[in-house]
Amino acid sequence: MGTKIKAKYEGLCKICGEEWSVGEDIFYQKEPKAICRDKECFDGQGGTFTPFKGGQTTLSGGYYGKTPIITKLPDVEVSDEVKKITEYWDQFFLVAHHKTKSIYPSEDVTGDRFGQIRSKMMDQLMSLIQMVKE
Ligand SMILES: [Zn+2]
Repeated sequence: MGTKIKAKYEGLCKICGEEWSVGEDIFYQKEPKAICRDKECFDGQGGTFTPFKGGQTTLSGGYYGKTPIITKLPDVEVSDEVKKITEYWDQFFLVAHHKTKSIYPSEDVTGDRFGQIRSKMMDQLMSLIQMVKE
């Protein structure tokens, strides 16, 4: 079973000639030996790599962490209006973050439960602003 590791040394694949430098992600497998930066070449050397394994389990038993999310970003220009909204979003995020922290001081800031409370708080703040505006 191969893994994806950060290269500790500079290397060169003997098969395809692909080069990698220190700190780059490469595919590595001990038995049978396979190493390359290129996934296809690594597979060709008899390597196996399943990106879904080795993730973390959440408190509720869910699975997250290593599941790749592929996002295709649209190639568009961002208007000033949207930039303004993004600025608001940042402000809401900041307020929600501090608010969550003060209400749940023992909650781990890096934990996913904190993130859930914070995002809920953001939703509430955004609906509150609608009320204030009307
Ligand atoms: Zn190679």
